[in-house]
Amino acid sequence: MSSLPVLVLNSGSSSIKFSIYGAGNGERARLFEGAVDGIGTDLGKFWIKDASGKKLVDQTPPLPNRSVAFKLVADALNNGQFPAPKAIGHRTVCGGPTVRENQRITPQLIDEIESYAALAPLHTPIAVYIMREALKLFPGIPNFAILDTYFHRTIPEVAAVLPIPREYSALGVRRYGYHGISYESIIDQLQPEVPDKLIVAHLGNGASISAIRCGQCLDTSMALTPTGGIISGTRTGDIDPGVLLFILHKIAETTPNAAEAANKLETVVSKKSGLVGISGVSNDMRDLRQAIKAGNAEARLAVDKFTWTIARWIGSYVAELGGLDMLVFTGGIGENDIDSRAEICAGLGVLGIELDAQRNHVRGAAVISAPQSRVTVRVIPPAEDLIIVNHVVRLLGIV
Ligand code: AMP
Repeated sequence: MSSLPVLVLNSGSSSIKFSIYGAGNGERARLFEGAVDGIGTDLGKFWIKDASGKKLVDQTPPLPNRSVAFKLVADALNNGQFPAPKAIGHRTVCGGPTVRENQRITPQLIDEIESYAALAPLHTPIAVYIMREALKLFPGIPNFAILDTYFHRTIPEVAAVLPIPREYSALGVRRYGYHGISYESIIDQLQPEVPDKLIVAHLGNGASISAIRCGQCLDTSMALTPTGGIISGTRTGDIDPGVLLFILHKIAETTPNAAEAANKLETVVSKKSGLVGISGVSNDMRDLRQAIKAGNAEARLAVDKFTWTIARWIGSYVAELGGLDMLVFTGGIGENDIDSRAEICAGLGVLGIELDAQRNHVRGAAVISAPQSRVTVRVIPPAEDLIIVNHVVRLLGIV
């Protein structure tokens, strides 16, 4: 078989991103990518680009709901203009406690993933909806769930267990970890020389960090949901549970209905906290850097809290790994924000981490540590869709 078209689907709250790869004979080529964006609005965006970046579809349709949005994608991909997909990989944020392996999607698997939707209420309902629709709109084509939690399945029980009563642990409340497909991509790009003791910091609008020993995840900062771990654009990260109780009591003063109060608390911890919460300016690092230049003290404090938290986490992971060979930065901030990398590493000389100021002034993949640094520091952009395609192809039994 020369080239098998594999569709990768990545569905979010207001968008569906997708790409089509040609896969086979050890070759992988991204042929097309596209998105429908603005689901729930009258003026959405629908575009498809070829590998050279030329837009082949560029529309602004009304997108009243996810059903209309996904049908647009399916119709475009089934109309003969593009290679019809022969397999589909679904980026799946969380499979819950029972679905830990990447695997072929069946109606039973969808029900199983859905039964743990309460663990990932922002992601799972969307994922299972798209899985069911894909089975209908691409009949006869194998679909696969490729999990962000898969990479973290190797973390030891002591890291996975959470200090809560067993009755809640029994419901599946534990550390799952996220950004796993990004971490897999970093490992893939480091092959064949994956360092024994590796820390990867995925710093985007959502941020997490993982300790990786001999290519396998040892620990990761996010736990049950992506709200845990490092502070990020709009999320608290790990926080004294007493703070949540305080905020919940405050909300309950005006919202007696418990479910409504819980939803409001969710909005506070997931959408209004982190960098935007402290700064009151923005969740976006570029805006915060501008505000800092203009002398905004709250923006400075928010970014300091971010870099300080990450530096502390790196310190604890060095202890957990028993040393460190390499530190990798990835994600929108990790790849692009020179100042964040410099500020995180500034106090880490004691751990053998020394940046080269000149080398740090890059965008894109590079080694940015000083020649004498004991730890190699690198910037590596992830190629997540490629990892999904690799899993799909492996599960199909093709190389
Ligand atoms: P992601 O979620 O991986 O797309 O990353 C989004 C974050 O990366 C936002 O906070 C952006 O401000 C940040 N980012 C993207 N490009 C840059 C840049 N050139 N300089 C600083 N931050 C950037």
